[in-house]
Amino acid sequence: MMRLKAGLRRRVAVTFAVFATLFVTAETVAIYFVTDGQEEEFIDHVLEDEMRVIIEQHQRGAEIRMPHNDVMNGVIVRNAEEREKLPVHLQRLSVGTHEIFVDGTEFHVAVQQQGQTLFYLLYDATRHEARIEEFLRFLLLLLLASAVAAAVLGFWLSGRLVRQVADLAERVAGLDPNADHPPLAEGYRDEEVVKLAHAFDHYHRRMAQLVKREKEFTANVSHELRTPLTAIKTGCELLTEDSALQGKSRLRLEAIGDAVERITQSMQALLFLAREIPVSDDEPIELREVVEEAFAPFHETLSSKAIEVEIRVPDGASLRIHRPALSLALSNLVRNAVDYTDRGRITVTFERDMLSITDSGCGIPKTDLPHIFKRAYRAGQAQRPDGKGLGLSIVKRIADRFGWRISVTSQLHQGSTFAIIFPPQSLVPSVAIAEPDAARELA
Ligand code: ADP
Repeated sequence: MMRLKAGLRRRVAVTFAVFATLFVTAETVAIYFVTDGQEEEFIDHVLEDEMRVIIEQHQRGAEIRMPHNDVMNGVIVRNAEEREKLPVHLQRLSVGTHEIFVDGTEFHVAVQQQGQTLFYLLYDATRHEARIEEFLRFLLLLLLASAVAAAVLGFWLSGRLVRQVADLAERVAGLDPNADHPPLAEGYRDEEVVKLAHAFDHYHRRMAQLVKREKEFTANVSHELRTPLTAIKTGCELLTEDSALQGKSRLRLEAIGDAVERITQSMQALLFLAREIPVSDDEPIELREVVEEAFAPFHETLSSKAIEVEIRVPDGASLRIHRPALSLALSNLVRNAVDYTDRGRITVTFERDMLSITDSGCGIPKTDLPHIFKRAYRAGQAQRPDGKGLGLSIVKRIADRFGWRISVTSQLHQGSTFAIIFPPQSLVPSVAIAEPDAARELA
């Protein structure tokens, strides 16, 4: 079976969470950089304003008051000697605003020159950085919270959406084509779900009509055929009592009687398959008898083709099985073995739980083997003119219905073996361990 993708709910929730995370991440990065940029700009403005005041004082010849506090510190350098005393990282700076790092601390520095005098203003950005970091932590927390919220929201929302579909699926699974039911569309509100329910209602109505027609047809066929078949059968039985009937005519009559019996059995098996009647406990049946019956219609063909038949089924071997079903399956397998074999031998063996039919016929190409049980499939290698590709599909239906397993092995131009493996409940213990009897030959 195709592997199902994760539930719709989970997928919607994950998609929601992924999109929300991507979106909020982009937003967080943008906010972070904009805020950081604004803070830096703000510091530079503060420095520039302060520097403007200082330069003004200097130009007026007034007393210059350089700031000295936690955040801002000013230095005036009046000559080369004083400049030498400055820390190297300040000496290197040209006129303008700069951003420097000293022992891991960020400073913004404004430098101005008036004649020989240099003015330095240093702004310690530690507090700003701490604030930005705190802001970043808050944004990350927000990111996490929105991802979780989106996942929960997605799960809840998709739950609401799929609940009706899941409910509809459950109701459809419980539909019985043999029974009426209130319209599925009742009880749903969403347009798409109602449409889906209408489609199922329509489909169910058609199925129910089809099943009804099919049932009537099979019942009619079986009823219409039963009467003439019984008439032929009774006619045959009465004629066989006539001692005047001898030789070939008697044999022909017996063949007609056998054919009627086979039609009756096949009809029973096919009706059984069509109607899904529960399997009941079957009486044990003589396996050898069923196998021999399956070969009966082919006696003439077998002798004209010079095919030997070997039945290695112990006398007394029996199975608890639906007889008409086994007859029908065997008659299809035997007919194939006979039709697809030109010379050689057909061997039927029963061992433990397995009944196999081996022929020395044309064999089946490897590429066809996986398909031969499909309805209407016919292998290219060999096809009988009247074949419809139905025989093996009927065998498969029967096997599925009764829990038998079918295996097939084949060698091109050498022959094929079809085997039925019966479930333990079909086996009659004494038979299951019995050794196969001495081989008996037929035909
Ligand atoms: P069909 O009516 O064509 O025989 P079946 O369903 O009975 O339909 O078989 C499907 C195909 O499998 C056949 O067309 C044939 O090619 C192949 N096949 C079945 N049984 C045998 C066999 N014993 N030997 C060779 N080929 C076989």
